[in-house]
Amino acid sequence: MPDPLLKVFRRIDLCFERGEGSWLYTEDGEAYLDFASGIAVNSLGHNHPHLVAAVKAQLDKLWHTSNLVRIPDGERLATRLTDACFADVAFFANSGGEANEAAVKMARRYHSAKGSPERYRIVTFAGAFHGRSLAMIAATGYAPYLEGFGPRVDGFDQVPLGDWDALEAAITPQTAAILLEPIQGEGGLHCLAPETLQRLRALCDEHGILLIFDEVQSGVGRTGKFFAYEWSSIEPDIATLAKGIGGGFPMGVCLATREAASGMTAGAHGTTFGGNPLAMSAGNAVLDIVLDQAFLDRVLETAQLLHDGLHRIAHDYPDIVAEVRGTGLLQGLQLHGETAPLVELLRIHRLLAVPARENVVRFAPPLTVLPEEIGDAIRRIEMTADLCRESQREKPGAQPISTNAALSVDPCALPANAGARL
Ligand SMILES: *Cc1c(COP(=O)(O)O)cnc(C)c1O
Repeated sequence: MPDPLLKVFRRIDLCFERGEGSWLYTEDGEAYLDFASGIAVNSLGHNHPHLVAAVKAQLDKLWHTSNLVRIPDGERLATRLTDACFADVAFFANSGGEANEAAVKMARRYHSAKGSPERYRIVTFAGAFHGRSLAMIAATGYAPYLEGFGPRVDGFDQVPLGDWDALEAAITPQTAAILLEPIQGEGGLHCLAPETLQRLRALCDEHGILLIFDEVQSGVGRTGKFFAYEWSSIEPDIATLAKGIGGGFPMGVCLATREAASGMTAGAHGTTFGGNPLAMSAGNAVLDIVLDQAFLDRVLETAQLLHDGLHRIAHDYPDIVAEVRGTGLLQGLQLHGETAPLVELLRIHRLLAVPARENVVRFAPPLTVLPEEIGDAIRRIEMTADLCRESQREKPGAQPISTNAALSVDPCALPANAGARL
């Protein structure tokens, strides 16, 4: 069959018809436990009644007006976001990459407006992921994403994570800002310690440069606080959110202090779709749930269960698992071998996960995941690990994980409460 879709994704031959909470269902009614959440996007799970009702109500009223006029729900969302964090102002975009573009432009413009247009360079860290635009692949600095796209956009200097000498050497009179993820999502779930963030803040203050946190993946309650940086005692000048903020509706936001945003005057930046009424209804509905302290406390409780379960697996399967990475509801297993075969075996056990770099299998369930669903996922991971082991025993010296062996697994033998919520 001719496939008219651009082949930039290695798509799995699997599709879903509907979702409910932490579960996705195929047309045949097969239930998958969704610990991928559309790559940390479905923060409230699938078909969350409050989110659905809010967006449906907006659908019947008004979809789009443009930023040439006021959008009251956007003003409300901006007020709620800025009240909840360090920021004074918000710029709405449609994606994480666009939110980061706004952040980088803002940092450059800040110095330019202060009479230092030569200060435009941004320091980033190896293992980063900031998006796929030409500027953001330069910020990301990952060779496979840069390959074949011509000259790398100038203005980004990358240093190894944790190398303070390299970092200090990279800061020059041309540096505008340091941009980083408090938890590197795509890069393999490296968590930066609160002390590291504090030291970065001090370094920025010392050099008069801005600190930008890309919380596109780590934000919106994923770590049990609204922003991951809140686990430290410091605050950035600029921070970006996307993924979870729309609960599945595409949107991003760049948040900043009034000072950091001082260069962004009328006409300096723009977007046609960003902040449209539909996106704002989704964002406000997500905040209704996620800004509740009791909700964040429950995220911490389920995160603890995930942490305990993954550590037990790391302990029981040292031949397969190198270490547990991540925090909150963004955790994973670093494997000794490749991730792709294990992720495929997990899928055969009807558990969805996402690979990250450095052989990490990432679990990012909806923030609404139930304690028993964490237990269910852990059992599925254990069954997968058993299968890996068996195939290793059968064929010593063979590929550590063979998917052929898994194909004989009977999905009916899965834990009894699969899909129990329906
Ligand atoms: C996903 C991601 C992005 C890019 O977001 P898009 O919506 O795909 O543009 C940027 N930064 C981080 C940390 C991400 O996880």
